[in-house]
Order: sequence, then structure tokens, then C-alpha cells
Amino acid sequence: MPRTLHDPTCRLASADVKRVYIQNFGCQMNDYDTSRMYELLGEAGYAAVDNAEEADLVVLNSCAIREKSEHKLVSEAGRYRELKHGRPNLVLAVGGCVAQQEGDRLLQRAPMIDFAFGPDMIPQLPELVRRHETGERFAATDVIEVEDYQFLSARPRPGDVQVTALVTIQKGCDNYCAYCIVPATRGKEVSRPGAEVVAEVERFVSLGAREVTLVGQNVNSYHGLGSPDGDDFAELLRRVAAVPGLVRLRYTTSHPKDFTLAVARAHRDLPTLSRWVHLPVQAGSSRTLRRMVREYTREEYLGKVDALRALVPDISLSTDIIVGYPGETDADFAETISLLERVEYDFIYSFEYSPRPDTPALKLRLRDDVPADTKRARLVELQRVQAAISRRRLGRWVSRTTPVLVEGRATRSVDELCGRTTGNEMVNFPLPVGVDAATVIGQLVDVRITAAGRHTLLGELASSSADLAALPPRPSVRRLAVLR
Ligand code: SAM
Ligand code: SF4
Repeated sequence: MPRTLHDPTCRLASADVKRVYIQNFGCQMNDYDTSRMYELLGEAGYAAVDNAEEADLVVLNSCAIREKSEHKLVSEAGRYRELKHGRPNLVLAVGGCVAQQEGDRLLQRAPMIDFAFGPDMIPQLPELVRRHETGERFAATDVIEVEDYQFLSARPRPGDVQVTALVTIQKGCDNYCAYCIVPATRGKEVSRPGAEVVAEVERFVSLGAREVTLVGQNVNSYHGLGSPDGDDFAELLRRVAAVPGLVRLRYTTSHPKDFTLAVARAHRDLPTLSRWVHLPVQAGSSRTLRRMVREYTREEYLGKVDALRALVPDISLSTDIIVGYPGETDADFAETISLLERVEYDFIYSFEYSPRPDTPALKLRLRDDVPADTKRARLVELQRVQAAISRRRLGRWVSRTTPVLVEGRATRSVDELCGRTTGNEMVNFPLPVGVDAATVIGQLVDVRITAAGRHTLLGELASSSADLAALPPRPSVRRLAVLR
């Protein structure tokens, strides 16, 4: 069975309208794109459903970052063969980076796919569906020139907006990280005009969002404002942080080479800007970083971390790490371990290197020469070291009372709520007797942290009934009284 997607726009359709189900893979850019696809198809008369069995159109929004993600997509597409057998009118489309990368080859490999389309073709999705209705199988992988590129604005419907929203500020990437397929699948970097970004944030906030995450592949190289000091991203953060009603602002992802002191100062100075930075390092050895074409050394990276910590001592940090990059020696890997211990990240995402087509590493003929079992052993060791660091870092919250933005009910129990600290730590806490969940969801409340688990914090609500009663109501949420 395909994974159920709880998209905010999901609703049950009546029998006479067409129904769409989108299964999302990959990064936050894909999450953002999926929401835009739902909106476009909604305007074309489709209703969203939350499982493939009820759908007339299924879209798999694919990720190509590692070979594993690509295999997952093809095997997932294979699972629709049987469903299509029983329902010949079901249309299966594949969007995203695998569609862009593989194009017609994907249609040859997976005959159950009706059409494929790349990220730049999303605005044409309703037309592509109509084109397929003539019986044509095709791959639409045109790339829009930088100067012609138009960002698709989010058009959320009242009542559909969650506490947290994504807003894209950039598409594509101009870097040449040697392992990375993104520039090949998403094209050159284009910055979204600042006024469009601010207007979209305002739209989400007016409909009930309380937190916005600005997304792009390298947000620090954003240049959509032409600001006088040239640090457009720091200025964009200031403009977005000033949107009335926005409680918390985040962004992802940063490239360390472009991370500036002005952005570090913004974390100190802007109360709504989260005290969390995701700063992907990829490797701890300058030799590996040079061969990855990351354009910074270990020392330069550590210098930026130190400068940020000097300005915001309690900042939470996370990172991405690749193990087993071509030519990575035991000594290089030991430097990655020592970097983890030096920085003390709050959490990390870690990956085994996976060679990808059309990447500089292949063009430079960097052989995938680290044996699979060495990659695996390094990944296990990396995660073992980090687990102890994460436990220590999470532990520092215990006994503190801290503001938590409540996102909704906790998955582990309907009697608990979950939210995040400004450092992006997830907190679960019981809903006190007599307090209605709707009163606190979407609000910044005080929580006293009582314990730290492996990945999450546990706590208890510390805001008083009077504090809760004084909270501003969220639009589109019926305000319910706090029972005393
Ligand atoms: N733009 C972001 C950046 O520069 O950090 C992230 C892009 S990518 C979607 C997310 C992560 O996937 C990267 O930071 C990297 O750690 C990992 N990744 C990318 N290509 C990879 C590859 N070929 N093999 C293994 N991991 C990879
Ligand atoms: Fe890939 Fe590097 Fe661009 Fe990130 S910055 S998307 S890792 S090329």
C-alpha cells in the first residue's frame, strides 16, 4: 500500500469529480512542489484524496539525490501495475528530479508510468494531464531559462493552512558540489523577488500559519533584493521577520561558504528567527572537502561556527555528512568524527556516498572506491558517536521552561500535544485536564522540560490559564474556551 499523505488540502471527493493522490519523496523543495501541484489540480477540478485506491490520477513526486531514492521510486511505480490492471483508467504520472533526470528512459523502464514531468513543468501539470488524455505517453522535461522563470505562488485555501508553512525563495543551484545531482535536475539558481516572498508569507500568516520556513538549495546565496550591502539573505530575513503575526521564522538549507556574519547577527537580533541553523558540512577533512568542491576548509567552517556561537551561545546546530566519498581514507574519516565532537551538533543527517549521473564526480572520474562494507561501518560509527552527543545536547533543556510553538497532537498519544523549541527540538507534553487542544495548537506556550528522550523532549505546560486565555486566536480555528 502506498504511504498515506496527510496533505492539508486532502478531502474526500464526491463520486462525480476526479480525484488526485500525490505521493511525495525527498526534500522540502518537493514538499513545497507537492502543495503547488494539489493547488493547480484543485483549480482544474480535481479533489485531493488521501490514498491511491480512491484516485483517478496518482503523481509520484520523485527524488534523485541517491541511487536508493531512485530505486525506491521505480519499485513504488511497480506497485501500481496491479492497481492499474483492475482500474485501466487510473493515470500514473511521475514528477520531480528522477523524471527530469531519466525522461524517456523512465517510461521505457517502467511501462506503467503514463507520463513524466520535471520540476520546471509543474505550472503546466493540468495541461499535461489533458495531453495524456489523448492517449500519448511522454516525458516533459523542458528547463525554463533563468530570465523567463516565474515562481508559482502558493494559493492556500482558508481552513487548509497548517501551523507551519514552507515558502520557496529560490530554485536550482549554481554550485558544483562534485557528488550532487541537484544542479543537473533543477537547473541554474533563480532567486524569487523579495516582494513575492513577503506577500506569500503574509498570505500564509493571514490564513493561520504561525511559523514559516524559507526554502532553497543554498539560501545564503539568495540575491532577490539587490540590497546595498549585497547580503540579500540577511535583509530578506529582516523583512520576513517583520510580518505581523509571524511567530517563528526558519530557513533551510545553508551553504557554509556563503553563510555570513550578517546572518549570524540576525539570529541574535531577530526574536522570531529560530535559534537553529542547519549548516551542512559534508566531511571533516579539508582534503575531502576540496575533492567535493565545497569551497571551504575545515578551519573556515569551524571559524563560522565559532563566530555564530559567540553571537548566539545557545544556538542549536545540525548538519549533513557523507561517508565513503571517493578516496576517503581512515584518517579523513577520523577528522569527520573529530569535527562532530568539536562542533557538538544537536542532530545530523548522514549518508553513504552514492554515485549519481551527470555529477562533477563522475566527470572528474572519481572512482567510487570505498568498499560498501567500509561505508556501512563508517556510517554506523558516525551515528554511534553522534547519538551520545545528541543525548548530551538534548539533556541541556531538562528543567528549563522554554517557549514551544505547538504544532498539533502528538503521534504517540491523542492526549499529548507536540511542538518545537526555537532550537528545533521536538517537545511532547500532555494536554492538561480542562484545556482544549484547539486553544493551544498554533500558539507559543511555555513548557517546562521534564525529561530528554533519544530524539525528543518531554515536558509539561507551564503557561497559566490566564496566559492561555490571553493568546490571540488563529484565523480559521474556532476559539474554544479554556475550562478552569
Ligand atoms: N543544498 C543542500 C546543501 O548544500 O547542503 C542539500 C542538498 S541535498 C538535497 C541533501 C543532502 O544529500 C546533501 O547535503 C548531502 O549530504 C546528501 N547528498 C547529496 N548528494 C549525495 C550523494 N551523491 N550521495 C550521498 N549523499 C548525497
Ligand atoms: Fe547540491 Fe551543493 Fe547545490 Fe547543495 S549546494 S544542492 S549539495 S550542488
